[in-house]
Amino acid sequence: ASLVLFPLVGLFVAFMIYQLLGRFATPVTALRAAMEKKQFIPYLQPVVDGTHHQITGCEVLMRWQHPQSGLIPPYQFIPLAEESGLIVPMTRAMMEQVREQFGPLAAELPKGFHFGFNICASHFKDLTLVDDCKAFIDAFKANPIKLVLELTERELIEQTETTQSLFNGLRRMGVLIALDDFGTGHSSLTYLQKFHIDILKIDQSFIGRIGTDALAGHIVDNVIDLAKRLQMVIVAEGVETQAQVDYLTPYQIEFLQGYFFGKPVAANDFVEKWL
Ligand code: C2E
Ligand code: MG
Ligand code: MG
Ligand code: MG
Repeated sequence: ASLVLFPLVGLFVAFMIYQLLGRFATPVTALRAAMEKKQFIPYLQPVVDGTHHQITGCEVLMRWQHPQSGLIPPYQFIPLAEESGLIVPMTRAMMEQVREQFGPLAAELPKGFHFGFNICASHFKDLTLVDDCKAFIDAFKANPIKLVLELTERELIEQTETTQSLFNGLRRMGVLIALDDFGTGHSSLTYLQKFHIDILKIDQSFIGRIGTDALAGHIVDNVIDLAKRLQMVIVAEGVETQAQVDYLTPYQIEFLQGYFFGKPVAANDFVEKWL
């Protein structure tokens, strides 16, 4: 009997250990598992031109489609993804999904359509980013698009040789660099001096206070002025009301983005609604 019992007990013990490990699985393990199950999906938000409000591009925003919890927003998992380094393969998967879905639709996109991806500071040390960008651009040969990398300022990019050669490689390919959430960090002006920035995205906290807060209006006025002097393109983020549109229109800002024009939606809905 022990010949039968022994392996059974062994199996049972192994099963219990497995259960325990699962219970105490670190969130990083959960992120990795979710990545393998392809639960991270792109949502796309339209970006329109500042004059006629026609669609000119989109920003890709990551969502975690959780089988139990539903759609989880980025603030609940991006910080951990960045700390753990998982953000690099997760971002690559985002670029692949968008490329596979939209590459075959290239001909239907407005000319020079912009695709914006959020890239964290630590990702700018990884030279594979250049290959990923190349693969993305190549998928749209039928009707070339503009690839925009949006850099957020949660941490400062170190100015190393690797980073500089990476930036140079990206520039040579025509990739545009946008500074996201401009005006919120302490490092924004430092970035403008160190790296070639093509696009400034004025943070939604300033846009949101236009009309109710004179100071926010002055800040927006001055950021626009600065960007024009530095010959940078401007995106006003978080445009929600007609009053904000009316305030911004005389400035002839290149691009506007916000719920007023459209919320982020899944890729299929984006195609249906915007293309
Ligand atoms: P972000 O890059 O500044 O993206 C804009 C955020 O503002 C998005 O939130 C968008 O849904 C939201 N938004 C757009 N228009 C409006 C508006 O009119 N009103 C309001 N209240 N909100 C608006 P979301 O999708 O929750 O993303 C939050 C942040 O998470 C992003 O801010 C970005 O920093 C980060 N994130 C999202 N996807 C990725 C990603 O793939 N990689 C990385 N590294 N970060 C990401
Ligand atoms: Mg962004
Ligand atoms: Mg932003
Ligand atoms: Mg943000």
